[in-house]
Amino acid sequence: MVRLVAPPKVDAPVATLKVGTSNIERLAKLGIKTVGDLLLELPFDWESYGGPTTVAGLKVGESAIVVGTLGGIRSRRPKFNRGGLKTITESHIVDDAGDELPLVWFNQAFVGQRLKPGDRIAVAGLVRARKYGDPRMSNPHFEILPAGATAPAGIGGLMPKYHLVKGLTSKKMALWVAAALPAADQLEDVLPAEIRRRHQLPPVAEAVRNGHQPESPAQYRDARNRMTFAELFELQTAFAMMRAQQASEPAVPIPYVREVIETFKVGLGFELTRAQRQSMWDSFQDMQRTTPMNRLLNGDVGSGKTAVAAACVAMARAAGMQSVVMAPTDILARQHLAKFRGYLEAGFPGLTVELLVSSQSAPERRRVKTSAASGHCALVVGTHALIEGDVQFAQLGLAIVDEQHRFGTRQRELLRAKGQGRPHFMAMTATPIPRTLALALYGEMSVSTIDELPPGRMPVVTEVIPPGERERAYDLVRAQVGAGRQAFVIYPLIEESEKSAAKAATAEYERLRHDVFRSPFKVGLVHGRLKAKDAVMQQFARGEIQILVATAVVEVGVDVPNATVMMIEGADRFGLAQLHQFRGRVGRGAERSYALLLADDPSEQSLDRLKLVTTITDGFRLAEEDMRIRGMGELMGERQHGLSDLAMRALKQPELVNEIRQEAEELLVSDPNLARHPVVARAVERRLAVTSIS
Ligand code: ADP
Ligand code: MG
Repeated sequence: MVRLVAPPKVDAPVATLKVGTSNIERLAKLGIKTVGDLLLELPFDWESYGGPTTVAGLKVGESAIVVGTLGGIRSRRPKFNRGGLKTITESHIVDDAGDELPLVWFNQAFVGQRLKPGDRIAVAGLVRARKYGDPRMSNPHFEILPAGATAPAGIGGLMPKYHLVKGLTSKKMALWVAAALPAADQLEDVLPAEIRRRHQLPPVAEAVRNGHQPESPAQYRDARNRMTFAELFELQTAFAMMRAQQASEPAVPIPYVREVIETFKVGLGFELTRAQRQSMWDSFQDMQRTTPMNRLLNGDVGSGKTAVAAACVAMARAAGMQSVVMAPTDILARQHLAKFRGYLEAGFPGLTVELLVSSQSAPERRRVKTSAASGHCALVVGTHALIEGDVQFAQLGLAIVDEQHRFGTRQRELLRAKGQGRPHFMAMTATPIPRTLALALYGEMSVSTIDELPPGRMPVVTEVIPPGERERAYDLVRAQVGAGRQAFVIYPLIEESEKSAAKAATAEYERLRHDVFRSPFKVGLVHGRLKAKDAVMQQFARGEIQILVATAVVEVGVDVPNATVMMIEGADRFGLAQLHQFRGRVGRGAERSYALLLADDPSEQSLDRLKLVTTITDGFRLAEEDMRIRGMGELMGERQHGLSDLAMRALKQPELVNEIRQEAEELLVSDPNLARHPVVARAVERRLAVTSIS
């Protein structure tokens, strides 16, 4: 009987593939909403099993397939509940030679319901050694075979590895993809035919088919390269469009006036570093032009980015223009207010700096808005409150965003839209991004790097603490807090959701408060789901809380000079550059400070990686090291830029990125509004919505 089934539609929701309600949600977490989305998400790797082997022929540490008869099977709860382990399902398979191989599945209780003793099955998985007992296969894929069959149909050979969230398996993904594949021909190709021809890339439908169901590793590689090329092409086209757009919207030039910078330096109270002077100079030159400045100021925590920004504000003011500084949190905005006032008010007595945040009283906000609209105040520092519709400036010439990765493209656009014409724009970031990468990722910006710290900083004593020596870390915290200082304790985001991370941090907070740092120590907690985040941070800044327990998602980017200990749990889960950023939260005062890195994973490899943080003090070098060891995606925070890991990895090939950039530019020269390339136009629009660019 032949059933003719119409292929699914690419833009139909994944529900048409009958994936089930709970899986719809899981797929959405991966950004997969339609049949087309599913098709475009190629496996990131493949497991190779080869053909079926006998138990006698198995090698420990290798993946293999065994066909045979299932023995008794039973599920049980573990004796100790460690690491979220809920069920253990144990069985064994007897191959046709009569040899036995133990099998085990963790947290896959359904296996015990699906399989019965005596079933003829094939299992595919990794053979692992055990401390006690024979080697066994853990979490194998399995397939129930018809009687007498000697090889499985669906498992083994090459098996795809997909990006997953809890509840999904690569096997399920592969089944849905198989059902979706007939729709591949409907996919629109973002790569124009000529570009494909020039670079010898297959059309999208072919790449999708070969990427999901390749006949050889080479086929998969070609498919993957094509998809990566397309992704970077979208990104570079988006950059090129933004550059063209920027060039077409003139800005009011801000002339360089030597006396302004002289006065600024006098009012500052310290000598600028060479890197700060260079960054200022870069910016002054940009601001003199009629094309708006679009500059990324990339400098380590504590490298003094604020002073650079303040100098630009002073220059804008001398040209009769106002400035705005947007920070991601209330408390950061308040700290900025104090710093900018400190830097500017001494040298420029008439220069007014105001604050605009949502926690202010309504009359206060009204007053600041009036001051901005009348042109009276030269600088408004604030949060998202700045981009509300009723905030207006008489003459906005310079917009600055701090911790730019915390804002979306739209928010930055809204801020810029407050100007008459396009204001000059500066984005500050403390994420050390190696220069080549910054250029590839922020293709439409110019980059200034502050690669030195102000002199006289005492280096933070950094130590890696193996799992068994946690007490030593607690002792140091107690000693420091006892001497009047303060400490941070950071928890990694182990769970996939912020909700469970918050729960874990809360539990740990209770434990620390009751068992480890008992009264009179005052312990506080912040996590992403806490409403009173800012209030707690302020209590810490005022010294009312001595030990602050925080999840890593919380911006601890506050200046608390009295904090001298940064204790980081699960440090091996963080990028080196990220650890370095946490470390930058201490060592801001006159006292010696400590960073304690506690590793969950005691392996030599993990400890060696962490030890790099103890010897390297330069965030940029640590970022490079991390890129080398862990790859790009890890460095940037996965998917932060809306790019797949593969595309991230490809960014490391400057020639490839250059070639793609040229293609994008040429396309825009021939078709400036992409009117003849609607598929590219739509892709660019989508990308601009998710990508973290200016
Ligand atoms: P970040 O780059 O992290 O934003 P800040 O601008 O907050 O750094 O500067 C960190 C601290 O260093 C501030 O207290 C600031 O006043 C001080 N600072 C900045 N530049 C210098 C300098 N050239 N010499 C001495 N101290 C400086
Ligand atoms: Mg800063």
